[in-house]
Amino acid sequence: MESRGLAHHLPRSVAGRYVKPTLSAAALDEIVREICAEMAAEAERGAVATYIPELAGVDPNQFALALTLPDGSMISGGDAATPFSIQSVSKVFTLALALGRDGESLWKRVGREPSGDPFNSIVQLEYEQGIPRNPFINAGAIVVTDTILSSHKPKDALGEVLDFIHLLADDTSIVIDPDVARSERDTGFRNTALANFMRAYGTLRCQPGEALGVYFHHCAITMTVRQLAKAGRFLAFDGCLSPGGQRVMAARATRQINALMLTCGHYDGSGEFAFKVGLPGKSGVGGGILAIAPGKAAIGCWSPGLNKVGNSKLASRALEMLAERTGWSVFAN
Ligand code: GLN
Repeated sequence: MESRGLAHHLPRSVAGRYVKPTLSAAALDEIVREICAEMAAEAERGAVATYIPELAGVDPNQFALALTLPDGSMISGGDAATPFSIQSVSKVFTLALALGRDGESLWKRVGREPSGDPFNSIVQLEYEQGIPRNPFINAGAIVVTDTILSSHKPKDALGEVLDFIHLLADDTSIVIDPDVARSERDTGFRNTALANFMRAYGTLRCQPGEALGVYFHHCAITMTVRQLAKAGRFLAFDGCLSPGGQRVMAARATRQINALMLTCGHYDGSGEFAFKVGLPGKSGVGGGILAIAPGKAAIGCWSPGLNKVGNSKLASRALEMLAERTGWSVFAN
């Protein structure tokens, strides 16, 4: 008997070859505009982070979305020109810098598994002898910062992080907000505990105070969603600033970073984000998210109100809508 495989069991529309139409810039623009309008009308906006006093006064009624496309063009809407504190989104850039510099040896000091715990958890670190689960929880990011610091003075290490972001975003106007950095340093008791703990285990090599100083300052970098979407291009285009353009990282390393963003980029909300959005993403308690649609776009999204696990409530929702309406997903072509 002739084998017809599974296709004859499926409805025609599913069995037939489905070719997804490429979205035009006009169609994308329309999608971004619709999402911004829907988010502006949203009543439930989450709660701004208060444990960093300087962030507590940010107006929660803000929302912005920006996409950088393969041809270098930018589509944006909402408060796309308003700078915000990128906080833990900076961990993507410090990881890229450390991986580019130290390569695989970084993984002796930090793991690559989702933590399933809050971003500032101490419990797991004790169980696992001072080796943080991944580079995106605070402990892991402090280790990454420590490796960048190892051959530098704190000021130079910070300069290197900022120079790298300037290169990625092609924008030297990106700065650190000194008030946010000070606010974090004055109240960063948990991070100080994590750093001291890791120093006791030998995971940190520099003085905890110095690693923390650099960490607090890179978390205090301010960017707009447009700048963030530009800075994320290298992750969307396999290590280059545009498809086939200037290479800033090895393709393999950018794929590894995307994998970590997908599995660990939203702390104990990472599974939920992967399930709903299906794209690598990294969040920060300032309400920003950098998301990557490989080959298609680097996406910056921001709204200051957070959900229970410390990820932006509306930016998560907006990225879900964007993924749904564009069909973008790392699980489909
Ligand atoms: N700077 C913040 C902290 O260390 C970053 C946390 C975050 O954005 N999730 O607590």
